Amino acid sequence: MKDSLQLYRRLLAYIKPYWRVSLLSMLTMAAVAALTPLMGQQMKALVDDVLIANNHDALERVLLTLIAIVFCKSLAEYTSSVSSQWVANKAIDDLRRLVFNHQMALPVSTHQAQTSGRMLSRITYDIPQVGAALSNAWIIVIQDSLTVLALLGWLFYSAWHLTLIILAVGPLIAWVIRKASSGMRASNRTQQLQMGEMTCAVEEQLAGLREIKIFGTQAHEASRFARISNNLRRETMRVVRISALNVPMVQVLAFMAVAGVLYAAGSLVTNGLLTPGGLMAYVTVTSMIFEPIRRLTNINATIQRGLAGAQSIFELLDLHREEDHGTQQIERARGEIRFEQVSFSYPGQEAPAIDNFSLAIAPGETVAFVGASGSGKTTLMALVARFFETQSGRIRIDGIALQDMPLANLREQIALVGQHAALFDDSVSNNIAYGHQGADMAAIEHAAEQAHAMEFIGKLQHGFDSRIGTNGNQLSGGQRQRLAIARAFLKNAPILLLDEATSALDNESERVVREALVELRRDRTVLVVAHRLTTIRDANRIVVMERGRIVEIGSHEQLLAANGAYARLLASGEDIIEDEGVAPLSEMQVFNETVARG
Ligand code: ADP
Ligand code: MG
Repeated sequence: MKDSLQLYRRLLAYIKPYWRVSLLSMLTMAAVAALTPLMGQQMKALVDDVLIANNHDALERVLLTLIAIVFCKSLAEYTSSVSSQWVANKAIDDLRRLVFNHQMALPVSTHQAQTSGRMLSRITYDIPQVGAALSNAWIIVIQDSLTVLALLGWLFYSAWHLTLIILAVGPLIAWVIRKASSGMRASNRTQQLQMGEMTCAVEEQLAGLREIKIFGTQAHEASRFARISNNLRRETMRVVRISALNVPMVQVLAFMAVAGVLYAAGSLVTNGLLTPGGLMAYVTVTSMIFEPIRRLTNINATIQRGLAGAQSIFELLDLHREEDHGTQQIERARGEIRFEQVSFSYPGQEAPAIDNFSLAIAPGETVAFVGASGSGKTTLMALVARFFETQSGRIRIDGIALQDMPLANLREQIALVGQHAALFDDSVSNNIAYGHQGADMAAIEHAAEQAHAMEFIGKLQHGFDSRIGTNGNQLSGGQRQRLAIARAFLKNAPILLLDEATSALDNESERVVREALVELRRDRTVLVVAHRLTTIRDANRIVVMERGRIVEIGSHEQLLAANGAYARLLASGEDIIEDEGVAPLSEMQVFNETVARG
């Protein structure tokens, strides 16, 4: 009850900016409430002044008054409904954008701790629930409560004895409502969690369609999905049962109340304390009170759903954004990167992914990172871009610790080409110019050329204007990667992170892209993770990693000569691939090259 109040108060803050329209809507709601008992009141005039007095002139007067009241009430109802919906939808729009923006501002680690289905269902499921609560519930709660109050006021005014009887029934009804709604909220939350689980499962299954088919696990997946689906159905039915029980219970109670009123009112008339018209009006008004009360009891389900939705939205909004307190701006970094005893472990993982890692990289240097899968190469790159926070130690760019730079400024200095290039369902040119909305066509074309992407863009039906489908699914892996590289060219950042940027390419495009990368590396500091010997050999230094630590460091020739971890990696042929057409290095060749390079 107390946290419901807090939730309400927090939701109310989103309505506050629109208080003018809210006020209009509440005023019109009050008008509706005030006009409702007046309609019942006309029953008294109709019976006493027209029927019993047998007066035809009074009939016209009474009917005209009734028409005027109904007209005004309808107008007020229209206004209150439209204005309150307007406010609610404005608030929902704000909330939706807030959630979206907040999701983007959350650290990568927070995203990894949540399933993407749960994240999605916040926008697709929770927010509409809050929307329903804000728009329908608001109007029903306020307008109907006011109406009930107005009707009750009239009832007291016209026959307070009878009204006391009605009030005796009130707490009984309230008790029933409370009882029914307590189980509902818990159920609603479970329902929402299960909806998230379902979204997640469907997403996963769609993404893994090929795996499912090739492993023949359709039956397994179907039964997993059937279980989730059935759980959701069961939980939904639980809510339905509780909600359905609500209506008949209230109805039975209401009828008992009416019977009591009729008995007492009849006695008043036979004793001459109430006119027949007064009785008719009283009964009419009494019957008018039950509909808003019934709506008020039903709306509870919507409100509880809305509150459950609000709770989950606020949970998300309360997650901390990326820390961004740095103030030391860099115009354009020279590109010196220094790791100082950096350690990092993923949450819930015992072994550190990066373990006391120290390395100084000079401006303009290219350093290749090699090592078995899981040795921490990707993590190291992520730390440079501050996707994760180091747990101890520091990373400095041009001598400034990453935490001391504004995040946006830091990331301006970095171009990142990963294994999976994220593309957007937009034109080729917009994908290349992503993050550079103002880039002119010549620059985009130049970047595409440098990335050796022109050759395939030229073959697309609409060239640079071709749309590439959701996440670029109309392009091959190699084409996607070349677009990502073109992006990096256009960004022209002093630090370049290449994490298996060429792994999705066939040999021929790899050769082409490697040439592009040689170009891109000029005047930049480059950290590159690659599996191809040709790419690795191009680096100034090679760092061999194992379990987040440096085990060896040096040039290709030095490391070969040392005959240690690097030589073993090379010999195993697993993590470093010798390209076709590039002859394996004999010791003599190594010797020659070493001599040639001085
Ligand atoms: P590499 O790129 O060299 O293959 P990673 O940097 O991806 O290695 O991984 C380093 C270690 O961190 C591995 O042991 C891996 O299991 C673990 N790891 C990577 N990503 C996550 C994650 N999101 N959550 C938990 N552990 C992770
Ligand atoms: Mg990796």
